[in-house]
Amino acid sequence: MAAVNYAKQGSVAVLTVDNPPVNALSQPVRQGLLDGIVDAGKDASVRAIVIACTGRTFIAGADITEFGKPPREPGLHGVLDLMEKSTKPIVAAIHGTAFGGGLEVTLCCHYRVAVGAAQLGLPEVKLGLLPGAGGTQRLPRLVGPEKALDMITTGNPIRAKEALALGLVDEIIDGDLTAGAVKFAEKVLAENRPLRLVRDREEKIAAARGKPEIFDNYRKTLRQRSRGFEAPVANLECVQDAVNLPFEQGLKNERERFMKLMTGAQSKAQRYFFFAEREAAKIPDVPKETTERPIRKAAVIGAGTMGGGIAMNFASAGIPVTVIETAQAALDRGLGICRKNYENTAAKGRLTQAQVEERMGLMTGSLDFGAAADADVIIEAVFEEMPVKKQVFAKLDAVAKPGAILATNTSTLDINEIATATRRPQDVIGLHFFSPANVMRLVEVVRGAKTAKDVIATSMSLSKRIGKVAALVGVCDGFTGNRMLAQRTREASALLLEGASPAQVDKVLYDFGLPMGPFAMGDLAGLDIGWRIRKAKGLKSPVADKLCEAGRFGQKTGAGYYKYEGGSRTPIPDPLVDQLIEEAAAAQQIKRRKIDDEEILARCLYPMVNEGAKILEEGLAIRASDIDVIWVYGYGWPVYRGGPMHWADGIGLKQIRDTMEQFRQSHGEQFKVSALLDKLANEGKTFTGG
Ligand code: NAD
Repeated sequence: MAAVNYAKQGSVAVLTVDNPPVNALSQPVRQGLLDGIVDAGKDASVRAIVIACTGRTFIAGADITEFGKPPREPGLHGVLDLMEKSTKPIVAAIHGTAFGGGLEVTLCCHYRVAVGAAQLGLPEVKLGLLPGAGGTQRLPRLVGPEKALDMITTGNPIRAKEALALGLVDEIIDGDLTAGAVKFAEKVLAENRPLRLVRDREEKIAAARGKPEIFDNYRKTLRQRSRGFEAPVANLECVQDAVNLPFEQGLKNERERFMKLMTGAQSKAQRYFFFAEREAAKIPDVPKETTERPIRKAAVIGAGTMGGGIAMNFASAGIPVTVIETAQAALDRGLGICRKNYENTAAKGRLTQAQVEERMGLMTGSLDFGAAADADVIIEAVFEEMPVKKQVFAKLDAVAKPGAILATNTSTLDINEIATATRRPQDVIGLHFFSPANVMRLVEVVRGAKTAKDVIATSMSLSKRIGKVAALVGVCDGFTGNRMLAQRTREASALLLEGASPAQVDKVLYDFGLPMGPFAMGDLAGLDIGWRIRKAKGLKSPVADKLCEAGRFGQKTGAGYYKYEGGSRTPIPDPLVDQLIEEAAAAQQIKRRKIDDEEILARCLYPMVNEGAKILEEGLAIRASDIDVIWVYGYGWPVYRGGPMHWADGIGLKQIRDTMEQFRQSHGEQFKVSALLDKLANEGKTFTGG
């Protein structure tokens, strides 16, 4: 089967792309389009050309497996050139998603028609790139620079109806698309419509030419919305060129910026991550064909911070969920917060009031565990205490129907021990959501020693169904994410005693691209939680303990590592804290010194990477890329750095190993290099194969 089929309907040549699953612009498609245009050009009986696609979508983009490899002829530019030079009108017939290179193909057609459900967009920015085949130059000429900036710098698509209003689509076709497109082409011929090229259109960009403030303002927006990302700014510069420079010059600049992004570290990381996310769904000993357990109803035990958010995920996905509490007041408060969250979203215009009611209608509260009897999955989110968890699981064992999945949201407790409270440990699993659970995308799916394979398979796909990204991990203290985080927390605290300030450490990690530094984060989450846990375990953290003893629990008390004035959330460095740190250091006879930013970064992040290596060594995560998925979706690690393991590969594992060894000699065994890191460093290898 050819990748592009050529057929004739009267005087119209129909080129049909057939490259499942998404008609990506692979080499055979480019060749087929090129040949088709040439053939149609030569055939005197052909007067117009339609480009359409079989299957579920129009060309949905480039073939991303070709990225980073030597280019294969014909390049897209050559094909597009030929299309623009065609003396016979070309009509694109769009259904499904015309994305990226797919949309760029349509922009080199003379006309575009689409079905109502079609979507059009340039999502390249999501892979750290820009549309490199004229998209940044042509789209603004059709939709105007403001709309083009939105579409190109967010990568978000628009629907056919909006595209029609903007002038991106010429007609919406009801019924058979190809037939409609052929008819449209015949109309173009009959009416002798001109062969207008998008590249020659001036009206919308001319209006913006005298208004540089459009771009200045947008640049400011990007600085906030896409802090640290190179691609959105490069996209903006291209659109600015489209407005101000001759077309060919704009095209040349677009090409140069594209190559710079394509060969840069950020896009490499984002493309790596694209595959990492998909890979995380694959579990070697749980085949894709594993029969899953049907999930029609859910229950959540506990309507606190996590339980409410977890329940919202089910309601938002249309799955009825029963929330069970011990007291009516706690239940009312929990469900009240869920409603408030939905109403806030509605106030921003992202939900209708009817949708709020529909979702709340799917949530039922109860004080009786019996209400969980018909649930297919039950997620426990009660207090983090083993006896309480065991009691809850024993009760669930008594009421849950056979085959129900019994999940715990514990962050620190041993899931295997929790499972012993039931007579069905094979049905017990960890579903570790992150706070706020209705917002954060990550779920660590924690596999117990006895967890059944179909329970794992069902949990992975259920996570996806409720809009989450799941990574499978094994049981250990803190699982994967928090176990690595503990390394950073320890070092950040040690750095304070050695001479750094909370603001300096936070700034280094913020500038690295994390959403906030560890101390601002601690103040936000509340320092009392960790204090309570440390006291229970007989552990100490000199500075944090002193802050808590002084009643400084973070933002909620107006003071923690920072002070907060007048109810503001802006952290202000506090001389009292500096004094407290100096006293704590003196008490331990630590001579404080000036610490440079580079050391702060290495001290905070290298031990995390080392811990990640231990987790791999112990078989608790399947692959290094799963750890990266956990860090990007659970902790806001900047995706343009791929994740801690990909980032470490970029630095070089030998350097990380050697620096860790130096730290071990100067600071102690907490920096002991893991066997896996040592081995890979010696062999000149990487964690992620990049
Ligand atoms: P929380 O204190 O806000 O909520 C716990 C709720 O459970 C309370 O409303 C309480 O009334 C209810 N509860 C207690 N015993 C119960 C019982 N026997 N039956 C029914 N309800 C009961 O706590 P949280 O922060 O939501 O944490 C819940 C779980 O989630 C813990 O295991 C915690 O480790 C874990 N977790 C918390 C976070 C976080 O950031 N808060 C993140 C991930 C996981």
